[in-house]
Amino acid sequence: MNILEVKNLNVSFEVDEQIYPVVKNFNFSLEKGKTLGIVGESGCGKSVSLMSILKLLPKNGRFKADYINFSGEDISNFTETEMQKIRGNRIALIPQDPMSSLNPLYTIGEQIVETIKLHQKVSKKEARALAIEALRQVNIQENRFDNYPHQFSGGMCQRAIIAMALSCNPSLIIADEPTTALDVTVQSQIMKLFKDIQQKFGTTIIFVTHDLALISQIADEIMVMYNGHVVEHASCSDFFNNPSHPYSKGLLDALPDEKKSSLNTIKGQPPTIKENILGCKFHPRCDFATEKCQQESPPRLKIKANHFVSCWLKENF
Ligand code: SF4
Repeated sequence: MNILEVKNLNVSFEVDEQIYPVVKNFNFSLEKGKTLGIVGESGCGKSVSLMSILKLLPKNGRFKADYINFSGEDISNFTETEMQKIRGNRIALIPQDPMSSLNPLYTIGEQIVETIKLHQKVSKKEARALAIEALRQVNIQENRFDNYPHQFSGGMCQRAIIAMALSCNPSLIIADEPTTALDVTVQSQIMKLFKDIQQKFGTTIIFVTHDLALISQIADEIMVMYNGHVVEHASCSDFFNNPSHPYSKGLLDALPDEKKSSLNTIKGQPPTIKENILGCKFHPRCDFATEKCQQESPPRLKIKANHFVSCWLKENF
């Protein structure tokens, strides 16, 4: 059963009185209890797409969608009041920088209690018990309940944010580059925590990252975005065994490997918001680009059950 279905999501930003599209025809559905990894370089539209679903775009952002079906309801036209009942309660957001998401003036425990009381009709005592339990789920002991954020390390702050997200039993967690600010050892601990949470509670997770090595540890399916377009969508095993879009291959080739003496890179830079590239958006950086690639945008082609690629090379596959 699908918990989330997004149909034809388009996002644009107004900059200097001009409207620029940043996400085009974003479509996906996600089965309950699964993890979707969304990858791509900074500015490719991965976070913006998800912020549109949560209606958390900045003031100059706009989105349109045929529908955004969450747990059987189209939330695309929900009011801000209706969205407030969903955000933090049924859909939890785990942001990139835990320190900027915690209020330095309140203790960790107080902040989790507040989140619980905002969404659940419980007494302060019950909220405190739920907050302690949520902290325990992320391996933070009760004696740290009255600590302030500055008394926590970066990894502990991120675990506290995850505890806050878990405190209302969300059915969907959107984790937006949740380990970027953490060192490698703490990253592994946080990834293990996500896996444990999913096994224990059956939570559905959307994990946004630019780190393919990290996402391979947790994702059931992978979606690759480039310049606001989904260029490849496949199961995790298909993606890593048979990456089919030149951009996906470039990202995988750029992964550190002890057998390589130097790191491979993808030539050129991703386009800026103001650049309008005709044809395939990746063609200026693609070693396989043809004249057709420069003129016509490739359609979404099915190369296998649940494996889709937007590339002319796969036209007669
Ligand atoms: Fe490269 Fe052409 Fe495929 Fe685009 S459509 S990724 S330019 S081969």
